[in-house]
Amino acid sequence: MIPAVMPTYARVDIAFERGEGAYLYTADGTRYLDFASGVAVTALGHAHPALVQALVEQAHKVWHTSNLFRVSGQERLAARLIRASFADTVFFGNSGAEAIELGIKIVRKYQYAMGRPERYRIITFDGAFHGRTLAALAATGNTKYLEGFGPPVSGFDQIPAGDLALVKAAITPETAGILIEPVQGEGGVRVIEPRFLQALRRLCDEQGLLLFFDEIQSGMGRTGKLFAHEWAGVTPDVMAVAKGIGGGFPLGACLATESAARGMIAGTHGSTYGGNPLAMAVSNAVLDVVLEDGFLPRVERVANHFRQQLAMLVERHGAVIDDVRGAGLLLGLHARVPNGDLVTALREKGLLAVGAGDNVVRLLPPLIIGEAEIAEAIVMIDAACTALAAGAVAAA
Ligand SMILES: *Cc1c(COP(=O)(O)O)cnc(C)c1O
Repeated sequence: MIPAVMPTYARVDIAFERGEGAYLYTADGTRYLDFASGVAVTALGHAHPALVQALVEQAHKVWHTSNLFRVSGQERLAARLIRASFADTVFFGNSGAEAIELGIKIVRKYQYAMGRPERYRIITFDGAFHGRTLAALAATGNTKYLEGFGPPVSGFDQIPAGDLALVKAAITPETAGILIEPVQGEGGVRVIEPRFLQALRRLCDEQGLLLFFDEIQSGMGRTGKLFAHEWAGVTPDVMAVAKGIGGGFPLGACLATESAARGMIAGTHGSTYGGNPLAMAVSNAVLDVVLEDGFLPRVERVANHFRQQLAMLVERHGAVIDDVRGAGLLLGLHARVPNGDLVTALREKGLLAVGAGDNVVRLLPPLIIGEAEIAEAIVMIDAACTALAAGAVAAA
């Protein structure tokens, strides 16, 4: 019999009852150190007092009015995101995939508004992940996710990342823009070279294309800058953000320059729930913390410390893990055993982590962690690697 909850996930048989900071607890009181963060979502940890207060206060006022009316929380959040980024305008939705869908629409509509309606195709990259709606899936290009769902939405041309000549060769008179994650998350925690992002920026400017960054996972402080592209010193025309922006409350946003969004007039896009007062209250509280003086430099310091410690574990356990990769607190351990085995072994030691492509295990701690939690995680990873190495020897 099919489970009541549609079985599209191979779920771990654990349910959590409550969380506090970097820790999650099951009903029987078992404690886990949460370096999964609901896949990079609970950026300020669980039950952050400022977020709880913002949500409760808003819950007593008004939950939902729709986008037929002004939403003051949207106006405040959009103004703050604009002040902190390249963007001139923001649309709020409920998820990452929705932000990607809108970004695709903006790229296409821009070319249309520029009198070039034949330009609708978007160049994407191997190893990308952009979400599970039909167009986001087509942009993701992973045949495993596309199989059985009919003809993929057309208009995406996927190539390997890092080679500018391949990008140039992929551009046709129908190309409208380029979509890329500055740090690929699901694909295996692969940092895209700053030089490549800079070259894409120049190419887009030369050819009248829009540059569209997917910072759904890499944004909102995860790499130690508000957005990962800041490390490369380039800005996009369009950007999708989600995950950390709501701190656990469902929220996505698509940011754009005034020029890129020129076609997005009244009636061209909408969302019933998007940017509702509850989401806005929480997200404004997230920004209060993330934009506080010293918060992002602290993320960078903590991340560097964690990475050094992880590098030492790689030295010690070369048969189990052979590489640390990533940026800031978007970190990946490349495994030499099946990555699912490492995720399980870590969980058995009390540490939650997430698998990724290319046999990588992602470590995505909340941005609020300190050296004590890192020390604890290192002991757990050390123990898990020792157990796996012993198991491998016993099995041999
Ligand atoms: C998670 C993710 C998405 C999809 O976000 P949803 O909220 O699951 O729709 C898209 N792109 C990237 C880079 C992501 O990490």
